[in-house]
Amino acid sequence: MNDEPVNGITDTQRHFSSVSNARRCSECSEEALGRCPECRKGLCQDHFPKQQHSPCAENQMKMAQNQVCYVCGTQVYPDQWSLSKTSHVVDAFTCQGCGRYVCNELHTHHKKDEFTITREGLRGHRYQYTVRYCDLCSPLQHVGGLKGLGRMIATVGTVAAVIFFYFHP
Ligand SMILES: [Zn+2]
Ligand SMILES: [Zn+2]
Ligand SMILES: [Zn+2]
Ligand SMILES: [Zn+2]
Repeated sequence: MNDEPVNGITDTQRHFSSVSNARRCSECSEEALGRCPECRKGLCQDHFPKQQHSPCAENQMKMAQNQVCYVCGTQVYPDQWSLSKTSHVVDAFTCQGCGRYVCNELHTHHKKDEFTITREGLRGHRYQYTVRYCDLCSPLQHVGGLKGLGRMIATVGTVAAVIFFYFHP
């Protein structure tokens, strides 16, 4: 940014006047370009990564010990960053099916990207979420992984119990 005054107004002043207060990054005075999926704060491109804004950075530090692949114990680094002003990438390193952390190299059995577009002010923002499935959940991804299967079994079990009691008074 060129801060030499042109016609008496610096770029910084011009920039500030063009951005309303509501659209400011919660960490600095830059324009907020994305919204953290975890804390819902509006953040600029520099502060969008979790390590760059509080309280997510502090949570990340505290959680670091527990952020390990549930199969092999390799530490994983959940991350998010901005590719441009309007496209953001979020990779939580968790299995969509069971919610546990999985490493990228060995225990992410299946990986795909899901896109959502949200409107922020005048612009549409594209969020790209990395969806992972572990070895166990990958075959079950159509029913929502282990958690989904658990729910299904519970439902089937209830139905079976009802039928059983209905026929055995
Ligand atoms: Zn910022
Ligand atoms: Zn955050
Ligand atoms: Zn692993
Ligand atoms: Zn899983």
